[in-house]
Amino acid sequence: MTESVRWHVAALATDELPAYVYDLAKLREHAAAVRAALPDRVELYYAAKANPEAPVLAALRGAVDGYEVSSGGELAHVRAAVPDAPLAFGGPGKTPTEIAAAVAAGVHRWHVESEQELHRLAAVLAQQPDTVVDVLLRVNLPVSTGALDAVALAMGGRPTPFGLDPDRAEACVRLLTGDGPLGRQLRLRGVHAHLASGLAATEQLAVAEQIVGWSAALAERHGFPLDEVNVGGGMAVDYEDPAARFDWTAFGDGLAKLLGAHPGLTLRIEPGRALTAYCGWYATEVLDVKRSHGEDFAVVRGGTHHLRTPATRGHSQPFEVLPVDAWPHPWPRPAVTTGRATLAGQLCTPKDVLARAAEGANGLRTADRVLFTMAGAYAWNISHHEFLMHPRPGFHYLGD
Ligand SMILES: *Cc1c(COP(=O)(O)O)cnc(C)c1O
Repeated sequence: MTESVRWHVAALATDELPAYVYDLAKLREHAAAVRAALPDRVELYYAAKANPEAPVLAALRGAVDGYEVSSGGELAHVRAAVPDAPLAFGGPGKTPTEIAAAVAAGVHRWHVESEQELHRLAAVLAQQPDTVVDVLLRVNLPVSTGALDAVALAMGGRPTPFGLDPDRAEACVRLLTGDGPLGRQLRLRGVHAHLASGLAATEQLAVAEQIVGWSAALAERHGFPLDEVNVGGGMAVDYEDPAARFDWTAFGDGLAKLLGAHPGLTLRIEPGRALTAYCGWYATEVLDVKRSHGEDFAVVRGGTHHLRTPATRGHSQPFEVLPVDAWPHPWPRPAVTTGRATLAGQLCTPKDVLARAAEGANGLRTADRVLFTMAGAYAWNISHHEFLMHPRPGFHYLGD
């Protein structure tokens, strides 16, 4: 944890826990380092679904070129939080109302997911004959990570509700180019693909090369200029090793080489998790420690209804302990003595586990504070807050 987070959490009253604490100075620094590692012709968009808190969006504004939104709700929210920022609008199942709102908002790029969506978009635009929008076709391509493993992991190219199969993408290109009926108000700028998540830099590069290679061949076949390729997000975040970071320098160098082979092309990436995961902490305190059939359990204030990440991913959320030495009560202070403990929340379900059999919990005492780290992405905003009606956490933004 950073010094400012440590001091801040130590000063909170017990009733102010649990709390989400964000270090926005650290976030700005991290995002600036990511930006600096990327070549000029790579645009950095932030996938808002990872963490759409307004102060987080605003803190990123200096380092990102824009934001990727995937619903009408995100569109309105991000527009209000960072009014001047370019937006890319993606996601399956866009409703006619969302499409109209996004046209009115002047969305910068449309990630079109299906043939019907092209028609829906064209139908809305027909009401405004002077409006022209920029389109990337989202494709679902079979690619491999190129790892030296005997079995290269196939990404994309499998049945999903996302994007267009390669043959349907060809059909969309025909609708948009030449004498195609939809080309007047829809300008085809290139291709979008988000095919994998959790890939290290070498594998991400292998995937990006295949997406660009396929897109260049598509453009060549149909004779349209390939201006842009968005190769998606999914840069690895390693919850088992909180100190590890995606190798942005190697990734940036690799993208520069790729761009060298495609003059005139702009690349775009849209990471979420790898930008914000490290800037957030979920801070709480130990309410009770109990031995259950030979194993220690530490029950903390809050739980997976606030921080669902470990439950959805099936991992142990990394944490640090902030010891609290004062113990004002006349009864014995329960503590972990078996060398490890499972950190559970207050919910009446065995699924409410934040960290399982964690050795870092040895010696943990009731009233000690625990800060779950890497809680800045897919944390509060994916959690089932209403379940069991416990109070909501506080939200604190440091370094603003
Ligand atoms: C979720 C998503 C992202 C971000 O993925 P991360 O794993 O958070 O980097 C980017 N693009 C699209 C289309 C997505 O759905």
